[in-house]
Parts: sequence; structure tokens; C-alpha cells
Amino acid sequence: MLWSHRSHETIYSSAAWRTLNPVDRAHIILVAERVKPMAYCGLTELRGVRNCILDGLDIVALEARGKIGWEWSSMGLLVFPSRTYTVCNSAKTLKVFTGGLSIRLEGRLLGYPRCCVEEYTCHTYEKEFTPEVIRSVGRWAFRFALEAVGLFLDGKSLPREFNYLMPSQTPHSVTCLPSLKLLRRWASVIERHDPEAAKTLVEINRRLFAKLQAMAAKLRQRGFTSSAQLRRGYVHRP
Ligand SMILES: [Zn+2]
Repeated sequence: MLWSHRSHETIYSSAAWRTLNPVDRAHIILVAERVKPMAYCGLTELRGVRNCILDGLDIVALEARGKIGWEWSSMGLLVFPSRTYTVCNSAKTLKVFTGGLSIRLEGRLLGYPRCCVEEYTCHTYEKEFTPEVIRSVGRWAFRFALEAVGLFLDGKSLPREFNYLMPSQTPHSVTCLPSLKLLRRWASVIERHDPEAAKTLVEINRRLFAKLQAMAAKLRQRGFTSSAQLRRGYVHRP
């Protein structure tokens, strides 16, 4: 156990590790430290580097799928090809993945709370927000974003735990307690092993929340002044 822990630190402090995108590093840390079973993320197209990282962290990955893209390395010096990999904490998890997944099982393997997976599979926001309000948040039309816009209209801010959301992770609500609890754990594990990856994750989420804040500002110009009004979907004009 001690040896395994020590070898993980050897990988996390290596030059090869730092060639990976910091957000991909955050994903991989959560799988390698057995915090969640599986992640979809970038890795590296350099086979030798990839094998060294996978072996050193005792994790497995399914061959890349999807189109190849190009991405600046986190060091900003080189441009690497990039594709999406499925990274798993064990061969057993990989076998479950390749055997075919329901959305619920996929959500569980990605570490998401059951309540959030339920909202993802069968969303409820259309019952609480009007089509006009939903349209106003564009492609962020899901319950978490709508509630976040409501919080900003009320002059409040999102709990800081959400700064550590992984890309594509969507809590079912801004008050989702299981999400807040797991994000506190994820944040501490990523911070401990790779502070730069944690910092990048926070920056990306803050940028996303700034966009939601801008949407709240636009809605305010249209007369919406509170989350209650946002849920009503209309503004009383004098
Ligand atoms: Zn939830």
C-alpha cells in the first residue's frame, strides 16, 4: 500500500504527467486514488508516456474513441493530438463498461450521486420554469444552471464546492447535499496530489459561473429581480 502510494506520487511529480491537460489530470487522479471508478477524459497519444502513467497508477484505459483533435499542452510549449479515453480503476470496471451501460449505471461509475443521475435521465426543470426562461439560458438549459441564475438574481453566490465540478458533471440542484459532500472529497484529493490541476478546474468553473452571472444580469435588465420571479416566469410591469 505504502509502495503503491509512493509510486503514485512519483507519477504525479513526473514531467510526463505535466504534459497532460490539468483537467484530465484531475479526472485521472480521482480514478487512480479510488475515489470514483471511471472517467471520460483525455490522456496522451504518446503510447510510451500513456503506458508509463497507466502502469504507475495501476489503472486501465480503453483505446481512444472519437475524432482526433489538437490541444496545447499544459506547459504551453507543444501541441498534442487529443482524444477521449475511458479510464477505469480496474480491469473489472472496464469489463462492466464494455459490457454495455444503462445511463444509471454509467452515472454510478462516473461517481455521480443517484439524485443527479435521476434528474439527468428524467429532467424536471420544465415543470418549474417557463419555456421563455429556459430559452434565456440557451445551451445551459438544465436545472442546476437555472437555479444558479436564480441565486445570482437573489444576490447570492454558489457554494464554493461547485468550483470543483468536473466538466460535464451536472448536480441535480444547487442545494444537492450528496454533490456538495462528494465535491469536498474530490477537491481535497485533487488539491493534495496536483494543486495546479485543482487551480485549473476552479478557473474553468469560475468562467462558467461568470457566464451564468451575465445571464442573470440580462434577465435583470428585462425586469427579473429574484429567483421567485424567475420561477414564475414573468414580470409584473407597473
Ligand atoms: Zn443530486
